[in-house]
Amino acid sequence: MTDKPLFTPGPLTTSATVKRAMLRDLGSRDAEFIQAVAEIRSGLLAVAGADDTYEAILLQGSGTFGVEAMLSSVVPRDGVLLLCVNGAYGRRMSDIADVHGIATCIYEEPEDEPIDPVVVAATLDADPTITHVAVVHCETTTGIMNPVEDIGAAVRGRGATYLVDGMSAFGGVPFHLPESQADFYVSSANKCIEGVPGFSFALCKRQSLLATDGIARTMSLDLLEQWRRLEKDGQFRFTPPTHALLAFRQALRELEAEGGVEARCARYQRNHDAVVRGLCALGFTVYLRPEVQGPIITSFLQPAHPNFDFTGFYQSLSDKGHVIYPGKLSEVACFRIGNIGHIGEPEILALIDAIRLTLSEMEVSLA
Ligand SMILES: *Cc1c(COP(=O)(O)O)cnc(C)c1O
Repeated sequence: MTDKPLFTPGPLTTSATVKRAMLRDLGSRDAEFIQAVAEIRSGLLAVAGADDTYEAILLQGSGTFGVEAMLSSVVPRDGVLLLCVNGAYGRRMSDIADVHGIATCIYEEPEDEPIDPVVVAATLDADPTITHVAVVHCETTTGIMNPVEDIGAAVRGRGATYLVDGMSAFGGVPFHLPESQADFYVSSANKCIEGVPGFSFALCKRQSLLATDGIARTMSLDLLEQWRRLEKDGQFRFTPPTHALLAFRQALRELEAEGGVEARCARYQRNHDAVVRGLCALGFTVYLRPEVQGPIITSFLQPAHPNFDFTGFYQSLSDKGHVIYPGKLSEVACFRIGNIGHIGEPEILALIDAIRLTLSEMEVSLA
C-alpha cells in the first residue's frame, strides 16, 4: 500500500526503509537501543558541524514540546526574553513564555519580512535587562528564512543567550551550529531529517546548558535533567519513543547516503522551483519575494476568482491523491506546498497536473 504524498511541513512522507526500521520491539534498557540513542546524538552533532563543546539532548514529544523545554529550562526567573516574531511559530513562543510567566519583549516584523539583525542589536543596546533572545530559523508559516547567523553575531556581541527554533530548517538547509552562535537550537524528528513524529532534540553549548542548573520550570521537560540521564547511562528518564528513534537512526543514515545537507537542500530547492514554475504557469502567485524565500515550504496566494474555494480545492486534491497544507497567515489567504520529505520532482509534477485538473473542474481560470 502506498499512501498519498504529503506536501506538508510534517509529518512528512518517509522512505519505505525508514518505516521498516520500526518493525522491532527493543527494550528501552537494551544495549542495542542504547547504542542507537548514542548514534543519533553524535549524528545530530555531526549534521550541525558541532564539536565536543556541544551536546545533543533527545526529548519525547513533538517540536513544540522541544521549544517549550528550551524556553522553560533556560530563561531564569529574573530573565527577560526578547522574542523576534514574524509568523505563527514566533507567536507560539510568546504563548509558551506567557504560560510560564517568563518576562518578554517582542520585536515583530510583518510575515513577509525577515528579522533584521540591526534591529535586534539596537533593541539589546536600548534595553540592558534583556538576557535571552529567541528566533525561528525558517518561519514555516510562510517559508521565510531568518538570518540566524547575523542575528547570532548581534546577540553574542552583547552577552545575551541565544535560542533558536530550527524546527523546519535543520537538515534541510546548510547550517553550522558554532557559526550561528546559538546556545540552544531545537528541531524535531519529523521535519528535514525525514523521520517519523515522536521526539524533538536540542543541540546546545555544554557551558550554556550547565549554566541552567535550577532554572527548569517543569519536571518532564527539564533539559538539563534529561541530559544528565543520557550522560549517566545513555537512557531517557521516561519511556522513550523506541520505534521513532529507530526510524530516525535510519533517516540519519539516509541523509548521509543522499550526500548530506547540501544534497538534501538541493533536492528541496528543485521541488520548490518545480512547484513555483508549475503553479505560476497556471496563474498562481507566490506570497514571498524570492530573496527571502527558503526551499522548505512555499506559500501561494489563494486566487480571488469567485469560483475558488479552498476547502473544495483541498478535498479535490486529496481525492486525487495529494495532500497539501492550508495557510496560517494572519492577514492574507494563502495555501502552502511543503517541499520536504521523501518526495521529488515526479511527485511535484503529478501534484501540478492534479491542480490543473482541479481548477478546470472548479471552472477557475487564472491565466
Ligand atoms: C513544525 C514546527 C514546530 C513544531 O510543531 P509541532 O507540531 O509541535 O511538531 C515549531 N516551529 C516550527 C518553525 C515548525 O516548523
